[in-house]
Amino acid sequence: MTIEAGQHVRHRSRLEWGIGKVEGSNGESVFVRFGDQLKTIKISFAEEFLEAVTAVELEALKPVARAGPAVGRTPQCPECGRALFRGADGEWRACSHCA
Ligand SMILES: [Zn+2]
Repeated sequence: MTIEAGQHVRHRSRLEWGIGKVEGSNGESVFVRFGDQLKTIKISFAEEFLEAVTAVELEALKPVARAGPAVGRTPQCPECGRALFRGADGEWRACSHCA
């Protein structure tokens, strides 16, 4: 395969590295970031061992928490705006700061 910067790849014999992103090349080696590790891989090895990760595959691997924290809305105290909490009985408790 042709290695291009910005491409997502995995290493066939180093699957534990997970998915890497090609950061660039100096004509002799390519630089691929796997997590917080920047690996330098000779182009001849890269072409043999790196495998492209498709956009579909990448999407499927994304953490589910992507939606962000605003999904389930928590009631807030009308006085101070702090989030309210449910008590052991399941009822929303009065604000501990203002009550
Ligand atoms: Zn309050």
